Amino acid sequence: MPAPSALQPALNIVMLGPPGAGKGTQAERLAVRHRVPKISTGDILRHAVQTGTALGGSAKQAIDSGNLVSDDAVICIVRERLACADARSGFILDGFPRTVVQAGALDGMMGSRGALIVLDIVVPEEVLVLRLAGRRICSVCGANATVDTRQACLKCGGTLVTRTDDGAKVVRERLKVYQRQTRPLVEYYAPRPTFRSIDGNQVPDAVTGAIDNAIAAAVAAGGARQ
Ligand code: ADP
Repeated sequence: MPAPSALQPALNIVMLGPPGAGKGTQAERLAVRHRVPKISTGDILRHAVQTGTALGGSAKQAIDSGNLVSDDAVICIVRERLACADARSGFILDGFPRTVVQAGALDGMMGSRGALIVLDIVVPEEVLVLRLAGRRICSVCGANATVDTRQACLKCGGTLVTRTDDGAKVVRERLKVYQRQTRPLVEYYAPRPTFRSIDGNQVPDAVTGAIDNAIAAAVAAGGARQ
């Protein structure tokens, strides 16, 4: 895959889907392959909590209870991040937008950047609950760890821990919040020719293959590498 250039239209991707659908894993793969930044509002917020910033202080309670951080705060985070030079040739958004208000704000930020490709990763709820119960992340770099590499982070050697919001009660709340506030985004984006649904209930490499095909189809439907 050639590096994006000024002559090539940007690759602007939004990953939609419930907690545990595999958005983060797939977003990371896409970012490496297409050489555009992965922007995860969850990672940015967790880092803010870990480093004790004002944003972290105000976000911690919402995150730990499975609720959403305020639209204003996350919109501001994404607006600043998209203004960075590395996001000019595109981006993979993971975990944003999560409400219709955030989606409207993102549309307003797009200007001349080209179309958004929206990938909705679909996984049955009973599978999500099992996946989230077993999930571990690195306490140092925040990477997701797969089930058989739980001893230490493969990226940095850090200790693996359960996310503070992956406990059974909070998981149920996050899935409810998803149904109520984020799922309506499917209707928001579905009429666009660059919207695609992906079966996320497959092994990660099969999901990656399905995403590659969906991006190719969306680019063709959207008119360019958009
Ligand atoms: P997951 O997709 O597994 O639920 P994330 O890492 O994307 O987890 O997000 C973790 C938490 O961070 C969310 O439950 C929420 O509290 C907060 N958060 C992340 N992104 C947003 C967003 N776009 N709007 C509001 N809150 C957010």
